[in-house]
Amino acid sequence: MPSHLASALKCITAIKLKKQGLSQAKISKLLGINRSTVSHYLHGRNVSPKSLKVAKIIINFCPRDFILFVQSVIEKKEEVKTIVKTCQNRNFKVLVKDSCIGCGTCSEKCPMDAIKISGLKAKVNSKLCCGCEFCIKVCKTNSIEIMEVKNNGN
Ligand code: SF4
Ligand code: SF4
Repeated sequence: MPSHLASALKCITAIKLKKQGLSQAKISKLLGINRSTVSHYLHGRNVSPKSLKVAKIIINFCPRDFILFVQSVIEKKEEVKTIVKTCQNRNFKVLVKDSCIGCGTCSEKCPMDAIKISGLKAKVNSKLCCGCEFCIKVCKTNSIEIMEVKNNGN
């Protein structure tokens, strides 16, 4: 069942990426699947309706549970990032307070590679953030705030 759900998540992601204008070759590379499989996904083949139904429920889990689930069925970090950012229909803004000491713990923990350390401060690319709040949990100075800013309606 986990492999069926991984396929269903990749299928949903492939369809969304195609709608965004990406080529089948690019989608194939991003998701680690061959172009024939991408083609099957885009034509509604290779994935059962039941798996798709369950995957759509999983996508609407809270951000933390969604990425934890994707990480449990997809091994490669870059594929996890692609699936989460493409499928998730929520956007976040991350604020770093002056109390940040630039320790880098949040950057190491961020599954989306949204945080870099520069000038002894954490700098966050909110466009990459999935709202998992892993960074908040590890920050010992309570320097991170995350706000949901809008729903893009995907
Ligand atoms: S974990 Fe906290 S203190 Fe450390 S770099 Fe991140 S925001 Fe700054
Ligand atoms: S909530 Fe924090 S750890 Fe999670 S993706 Fe956003 S910046 Fe990274």
